[in-house]
Order: sequence, then structure tokens, then C-alpha cells
Amino acid sequence: FSVSENLIELIDYEEIFDFLLITLGDLFPQADSILLFNFNKEKDSLSLLRSLKRKDSVIKEKIGEDLDKWVLRQNQSLLVEDITKDFRFDYSRITAYRSRGVTSVVVSPLSIGHRFLGVARVECKEPLSFSLDDSRILRNVCDLGAVVLERASLIRGAQDLAIRDSLTSFFVKDYFFERLSEEMKRARVKESKLGVIMLDIDDFKKINDTYGHIVGDFTLKKLAKILRTIVGTAGNLISRFGGEEFIISLVECDKDKLLSIAEKIRSQVQEAGLAFRRRKINFTVSLGAVIYPDGAEEVLELIDKVDKLMYKAKKQGKNQVCSS
Ligand code: GH3
Ligand code: MG
Ligand code: MG
Repeated sequence: FSVSENLIELIDYEEIFDFLLITLGDLFPQADSILLFNFNKEKDSLSLLRSLKRKDSVIKEKIGEDLDKWVLRQNQSLLVEDITKDFRFDYSRITAYRSRGVTSVVVSPLSIGHRFLGVARVECKEPLSFSLDDSRILRNVCDLGAVVLERASLIRGAQDLAIRDSLTSFFVKDYFFERLSEEMKRARVKESKLGVIMLDIDDFKKINDTYGHIVGDFTLKKLAKILRTIVGTAGNLISRFGGEEFIISLVECDKDKLLSIAEKIRSQVQEAGLAFRRRKINFTVSLGAVIYPDGAEEVLELIDKVDKLMYKAKKQGKNQVCSS
């Protein structure tokens, strides 16, 4: 009861896994180690998310093994009293046995119906350490955990819908403004600089008019991919600002870095193009680039400044970078 009472309060994925690990640690004092795996549906694989070690053993495995896969396939919990005597598994292949001398385990899927979210594995070196009741308790906790995990992922998805653009999955304008002003505050405190780039596809109307809207959308996706590859590292923000207009903020960025990134975007877009019916559709972008706080103090001031520079790049003939 107390497990469920505490668990249903949680809405954060990471916190739920933390709580599950601690709970299983309390429920299974005889366990030498406990492992929680996350199931990735696209890759059809299990990856280790959390582990608890009672003795000084080292857990080296990062992916699930035969036992965990069995549990996923059967969609039921598993009790192994002594792996060396269990005809269902080849114990010489079980890493937990080979590297840590584990002989008894209980394993349960984290699943709702046939939707798999992960696997929980509780291990002990001593054979006959777990009973059928233990496997039932593990399953109960996992069932509860799965429901709460699924709710957390739905909440996360709903939050993403509100702050991300569906075509590019970049931040929408309003959310970008919020995040940018936080970054500006942080830069002021740290006395560091931010780089801001605004860019717009050149003659995008022509692409739409000539090849149709769907090709236009592909062009946007292609550009998004290039932007993500060049600037998509931690701390940097990318936003789809308008139809075919994007804005980027770069942390700890000086003028040289800003100009080199802007130029990299310009040249990579020019080279990339888009394959369409065995033809290559070329497209280019015009960019404005500024450094914060050089001259502009407020968010809107900064945006206005970079916007004007981008239009200067357009006026000067497009496919170029203009900076302050
Ligand atoms: P310029 O070089 O001056 O930027 O010329 P442009 O043709 O790109 O001019 P403008 O910015 O006025 O045109 C933008 C066009 O982008 C108009 C609109 O139909 C198109 N657009 C906006 N959003 C989308 C979208 O999501 N998908 C597609 N396919 N087109 C879009
Ligand atoms: Mg345009
Ligand atoms: Mg535009």
C-alpha cells in the first residue's frame, strides 16, 4: 500500500526509476544486485538504466540478456531458483552468472498489456534465494511502476506538443523566448557571451510553387537536420520561428565561433540540396548573426537586431551571413 501510495505521486520518468530501485532494494534484502532495464521499441533492445549493488561487485552488462528477453517474450515474471540446474537457460551464456556468480534470480517485465516499458531483475549469488511469492511481489510492483511510467511518458509527450513544432521538433517561438531569456540571465551571471543566429530560406515560395508544398516540407526537414547536426549540442537552442525562419542561440560563443558556425550552416545548406525525382533541388539560406550582450540588453531588442541583419543579408543578394 505504501509503495503504491508513493508511486502514484510521481510524474517524472527518472524519479520513478529511482523510486522503483529503492523500493525493490527494501523489498528484497537478500538480493545482491538489482537491475532496471529500459525497453527501446524502435531498436527492440533493453538498456540498463539503474542498478543497485549490495556487495562490491561490478555490473558490466549494459543490455538485457537471455533471462530478460525470455520475460519480455513470455510477458510474465520469471523465477530461477538455481541457474545451473535450470533446463530453460544455458547458464554459461548468462553474464550475471559468469561475472558475478549469480545463481538465483527473479525477473519481471514492466509492461501494460503488450506494451513493454522495461524489465526489472533481482539477483542473488546463493541458490534458492527467492520464492514464487517473491516473483509475485516483483510483478505487482512492476505492474504499478509500468502504469506510472506510461503516465509519465504521456505527460512528457503532451508537454512536448506544447513546446515543440511538429514538423521539425524544434522549440516553438514562445517557448524559445522563455528559454532565451534564461540563457541571457545565465550569461550575465557567468559573464559569458551568447551567439544568436536568425536564418530564412531564400526564395522558398518558388520551391513551393515549382515542386509543391510536400517538397517544401521536405526542404524544411532537410534544413532542420543540418541545423541539428551543426548546433544540436547541449545548451544550444533551436527554434522554428516562423514558416521557414529559424533562430538559434549558442552558449559560450564568441564572435569567431559565431561567424564560423553561421558560415558552416550557409555552406552546408548550399551543398546539401534535396533529391527529388532524380534531380537535385538546390536551396540556400540568408543569416543574421549577433553576440549577446554586445549592444542589445533585452530579448526583443536582440531579436530585432538579428532580424534586421538577416534582412540586410537578403537585400545584399541572399545566400550570405550578415553580422553586427
Ligand atoms: P525570401 O528569399 O525573401 O525569403 O523569399 P521567400 O520566397 O522565402 O519569401 P517568404 O518568406 O515571403 O515566403 C515564405 C513562404 O514559405 C510562404 C509560405 O507559403 C511558405 N511556408 C511557410 N511555412 C511553410 C510550411 O510549413 N511548409 C511549406 N511547404 N511552406 C511553408
Ligand atoms: Mg524566405
Ligand atoms: Mg520568411
